[in-house]
Formats: sequence, structure tokens, C-alpha cells
Amino acid sequence: MVKTMDTFEQQLDGLGAALEDGLAKDDLAPFWKFFRSTDLPFLCGPLQSKPRELFSRCCEVVHRVGSHSPAAAFAIENHYFVCASIATYPATGNPLLEQARDAMLGGIVGNRMLVANTASVTHGKKLGQLGTTVVKDGAKYRLNGRTAFVSLASEADLLILGALIENEGPALFAIPMKMTPGIEIGPFLFPSAMLDSDTRQVIFNDVLLGPETLVSNPASQAIQTLREFELLWHQTLSAAVYLGAASGALDEAQRFLRETQGVDGRPLAELDGMVTDMGRLYLDYYAACSVVIDAGNTVSQVRSLPEDEPRLADAFRLARTCKYVGTRSAEAVVTAARRIVGTRSFTGGHRMERLSKEVMFGALSLEVGAAVERRFGRDALDGTANTCPFAS
Ligand SMILES: Cc1cc2nc3c(=O)[nH]c(=O)nc-3n(C[C@H](O)[C@H](O)[C@H](O)COP(=O)(O)OP(=O)(O)OC[C@H]3O[C@@H](n4cnc5c(N)ncnc54)[C@H](O)[C@@H]3O)c2cc1C
Repeated sequence: MVKTMDTFEQQLDGLGAALEDGLAKDDLAPFWKFFRSTDLPFLCGPLQSKPRELFSRCCEVVHRVGSHSPAAAFAIENHYFVCASIATYPATGNPLLEQARDAMLGGIVGNRMLVANTASVTHGKKLGQLGTTVVKDGAKYRLNGRTAFVSLASEADLLILGALIENEGPALFAIPMKMTPGIEIGPFLFPSAMLDSDTRQVIFNDVLLGPETLVSNPASQAIQTLREFELLWHQTLSAAVYLGAASGALDEAQRFLRETQGVDGRPLAELDGMVTDMGRLYLDYYAACSVVIDAGNTVSQVRSLPEDEPRLADAFRLARTCKYVGTRSAEAVVTAARRIVGTRSFTGGHRMERLSKEVMFGALSLEVGAAVERRFGRDALDGTANTCPFAS
């Protein structure tokens, strides 16, 4: 367990060791326990006023965890993006909103809560189909139905639920996961993939929610801004998760090339072709990481609205670009590294096997590549695309 005086780096090293141990034993329960015992889940408290530092610390954590288990890193990333967007939600001059935000952040950090989120989406005949219904019942709300995706489902203490209140509109609720009667943690959504993300279906059996769980009601403009802000953090941090997978694969390729001899008895690392291949892969990896850093810098400069609207637009463009480029690049790097290591990637719990199977989920999660491509394509055809990003 962590000692209270441990530095960020010591805690991160401890977390890395706990993860490797858990993966080797196929039991991540001690890893999650260790994570909770550190300051790492609650960085959004002390770093609330330093969004740039908060961003890079969160990236460091998910990148390190992602270099061994992209799935576990994605679960942590889900907790981080919700907490970070609450912590850094831009000032709007509305004191009630600021108080609500501070109370929520104080509750999460003070009570050392892990946070899950869901947009209530299920897989149906229509994209984005909602699986929940919420009906007003006196001062309370009655929640029924199911949601397909909740990462960190068994560990989380709080669920941030996006849902539609019947005849009113979209709202956000903050629901205690473990103490609310009628919440059932269902089966894994992907029974044989991304298991360490603990992504499960959650079923709501006539759950009665008190008015205190309503974070943002349909009348409030804040809900739209908060969801957009969540998406900014999510896109940017999730790229760091999967670039973590790329860095793990590069480690494995490097180890293989240094430790394995060719038929002439020399290490494969000395072959000129291998030197060039590794150089190309590192260049792709560094370029993608630079886009993530650029996006994080811009996101963390959005401090108050409406003053920072132009920065917000830039932050969206960069967050989408970094998610798209970062996850595609990560997948390509892992594939190329696997070709270097060869079939031993799939022998006896090799790290490359997990990285190979999980890195592909980057491109499949929000916002899906198809949506980003269309958005950028429309801007290009309308003539509204930024054709000179160098302009200050
Ligand atoms: C491991 C994992 C964990 C997750 N955890 C959570 C969580 O904790 N909470 C949560 O709320 N969500 C979670 N999600 C869900 C995530 O946020 C997305 O909703 C989900 O990944 C979208 O994938 P889908 O296949 O359901 O997309 P769908 O929206 O069903 O899209 C399927 C396909 O339709 C096409 N398509 C979709 N949209 C467009 C478009 N606009 N234009 C053109 N084509 C389009 C694309 O080809 C796309 O691949 C998780 C996802 C994954 C993979």
C-alpha cells in the first residue's frame, strides 16, 4: 500500500507494479484496491486550478497503465474525464453553478469516490438509441431500463447518468452506485474482450432517485456545456490510453530485437532494416503524442465562457484530431511491432497479445472515426475548415 508521503512518481511506479502483478495472476482486485489507496484517482482536487498539470498527470497515469492493459487504462480514463471536466468546467459567472460544481467535486475527492458514467445508450436498430426512461414522480424521479456501457461498473461508487426526463428533456444525475436500491450490475458487454475495463451493462429496476441526485435539469444550458466539456477531456485522454499501448508494443519490439540473434549470431537490433523500422515507428508515435499534448494545452486554456469561445472551438478541433490520429496511429504501431516480434506474441500470456486485442477499441469508442471524418469532411466542403492552423 501507498505511504502518504509518496510522490506522484512513486505512486505511479507502485501502480504499475500492482498492475503487472495482477495481470500475471489474472486478478486485478488488488490493483484496484491499490489505485484507491493512492492520490492518483483524486488528482482533480489539488490540481483543480492547474488544468495543464492535471491533464499531463492524468495522461501519464493512463499511458503507463495502457502500456500493459489498455482496458484497465480505459476504465481509469473514464473516471478521469468525468472528474476533470467537473473540476475544470469553465467559469460562467453563475454562482449557483459554481457552488454545485464545487460541492460535487468536494464530494468525490473528500469521499474518495471512483466515478463511472453512462449516456444510457444501448445497441438497437437506431444509432444512439437510449435504453432508459425517467419519469417525474412528485419531487422524485423513477428510472427504469438498461444501459449497455458502464466501464468501471463494479468498482465505481458514483454513476453519472445522462438520460431523458419524459416530457422535459435531457438531464444528468449523480447516483450512488452501491447504496441505491434497484441498480443491478449486469454481465460484461464484451464477454471476451476488454474485460479489465469492467465494462458492463447496468439494469435499473424501478430506481427511485431523490431530487438531490439531479445534477443538471433540462432547463439548464449547463448540461450541454458540461457534456461537451466531458467529450473534450474524453477524446484527449483516450488517445493517451491507446498511445500507452503503442509504447508498450515498442518496448516489446525493442526487447525482442536486442535479445534475439539472427542466423549470423548477431542481435537482430543490429540489422540496418530493423533500425529504420524502429525509427519510423517512434516517429509516428511521437507525432501522435505531440497532437495529444497540443490538444491538452488548448483544452486547459478554456477557463471562462463566453470569453474563451474561440479557444473552445479550437479545443474541439484538436481533441477530435488527437483522438482520431492517436488511436489510428496506436493501432498501426502495435500491428507493426507485432510483425517484428512474430508469433511469439501469442505464446503464454505475452504482453503483445493483450495490447493487440485491446488497441483496436480506441477507434471504436467515442467519437467514432466515421463521425469525425464526416464532420471534418463537411467543414472542408463548406469552406469552414481551418486551412492555416499556424495563424495565431
Ligand atoms: C471498451 C469500451 C468502454 C466503454 N465505456 C463506456 C462508458 O463507461 N460509458 C459510456 O457512456 N459509454 C461507454 N462506451 C461507449 C462509447 O462511448 C461509444 O458509445 C461507443 O464506443 C460507440 O460504439 P458503437 O459501436 O456502439 O457505435 P454506434 O454509434 O453504434 O456506431 C456503430 C457504427 O455506425 C457508424 N456510425 C456511427 N455514427 C456515425 C456517424 N455519425 N456517421 C457515420 N457513421 C456512423 C460507424 O461505422 C460506427 O462504427 C464504451 C465503449 C467501449 C468500446
